[in-house]
Amino acid sequence: MTPRLVLIPLLILLGLTEATAAWAQDKGTIDAKPLPPLANPNDPKIGAKELFGRKVLPAALPTRVLGFYAHGCIAGAEGLPINGDTWQVMRLSRNRYWAHPDIVALIKRLANKAHEDAGWPGILIGDMSQPRGGPMFTGHASHQVGLDADIWLTPMPNRTLSRNEREDMSAVMMVRDDRLDIDPRVFTPGHLAVIRAAALEPTVQRVFVNAAIKKALCREAKGDRHWLSKIRPMYGHDYHFHIRIKCPPGANECEGQPEPAESEGCSAKDLAYWFKDSVLHPKPHPKPPKPKPPMTMASLPAACKAVLAAPDAKQ
Ligand SMILES: [Zn+2]
Repeated sequence: MTPRLVLIPLLILLGLTEATAAWAQDKGTIDAKPLPPLANPNDPKIGAKELFGRKVLPAALPTRVLGFYAHGCIAGAEGLPINGDTWQVMRLSRNRYWAHPDIVALIKRLANKAHEDAGWPGILIGDMSQPRGGPMFTGHASHQVGLDADIWLTPMPNRTLSRNEREDMSAVMMVRDDRLDIDPRVFTPGHLAVIRAAALEPTVQRVFVNAAIKKALCREAKGDRHWLSKIRPMYGHDYHFHIRIKCPPGANECEGQPEPAESEGCSAKDLAYWFKDSVLHPKPHPKPPKPKPPMTMASLPAACKAVLAAPDAKQ
């Protein structure tokens, strides 16, 4: 059994809201076929991912964040330009480079800081949200309201990547084979600088990384360490880290999360769970639980129906 098959039931069991794992590395294709139209788009039992996954552009509506990171949608999302001086968007075929304008602006700032603080040519951007948010066919439980973004832990190369490379190129694994620490051949002070720059952004509430990366940051961070409280160990963040911002000011329909505890989360006790053998090397479930039925529109805020129905924003 592959690790991926083991991990999926485990993530479902744990009810995690962040389910990017090995499949964050899945390759794309430059000639992705558009999805066929749905026979019964009004069937209330239809998976909401079927509806949101068919939207190619954001809703032409003012920006509104509706619901929670793992059950919601977004109106008036903004696209991150696929090329900037200090960033490039990967896996364009997934069409997941849409988000709230606040996180789009934040990524541009972070890209610039990665260039200045870490000396990287720039950063590579993985999944943000679909044009109208909502659940996705693959990969994530969260990323539904345009407030989450995945950043590769591989620096941007010093050239513009081709369309094909953006689908095919793999990020670099940061974690040692025994899963107990980072791989010092690939995890550099530049990585710390980039992750710290993300955590220092006041609107960033959580940054998800593999537990071995958290352990390394705890060991290596010098000076002011208060930002470490935002760094949260999470499954599946071996190749990329994940930024989550708070509900933007005035977004009354956005459902936020409590602030993380103020402690650094660096003690042996804090990290113990993540380094238990049963977590590092989970055993296959003897009888895998039945997959959960897909999220329907009934699980999302009612206003998400209007987001789906709205015309496409002009680009
Ligand atoms: Zn993510």
